[in-house]
Amino acid sequence: MKLIILSPIKKYNMIPAYTIQYSYRKTVSIRINRKGELIVSAPIGISEQKVHDFVKAKNNRIIQKIEYIKKTISDKDMDVSKQMKEHALIQILPRVEYYADMMHVSYTNIKITTAQTKRWSCSNRWVLMFHWKLSQFPISIVDYVVVHELAHLVHFNHSKDFWWLVEKYHPEYRFSKKRLKENGSWLWLW
Ligand SMILES: [Zn+2]
Repeated sequence: MKLIILSPIKKYNMIPAYTIQYSYRKTVSIRINRKGELIVSAPIGISEQKVHDFVKAKNNRIIQKIEYIKKTISDKDMDVSKQMKEHALIQILPRVEYYADMMHVSYTNIKITTAQTKRWSCSNRWVLMFHWKLSQFPISIVDYVVVHELAHLVHFNHSKDFWWLVEKYHPEYRFSKKRLKENGSWLWLW
């Protein structure tokens, strides 16, 4: 038997929402699962008030434990994004090196971002920024973005000379540009 009770939020004594699971048992016990959810096991027949008082008495420790678990979960998310960034760098870096050499341009650093924001500008002209999701696109799109960003090291604008340079190293850039606009214009930096 399961019953979900959402406890009222009081200003000074916030008790997290919890699920009560009734069973043939003698005592009340509290468990916090891996998602940081609070589960109370209680004997059949016990009043909700008694369960609530029990939870309330342990509230400080419960909150500490939940906060700890939630922090651990977000640390795991951080690890995942680190892996995605590393994977993306492995895909993108060789293309950057290849074109930088061909175009005779140099940069100081490459950064892979997982930012959700659609557009953002480079804070440093010599640092190339790429969204990790770019690595999931076909190689022709990757190459277009790489050439585009490298061309900005020469022309810090979208002038005719800039597009001429892009076309020189990525002749089918119009097609790639269109595809990118349709599928992932948010990949863009500038
Ligand atoms: Zn641009």
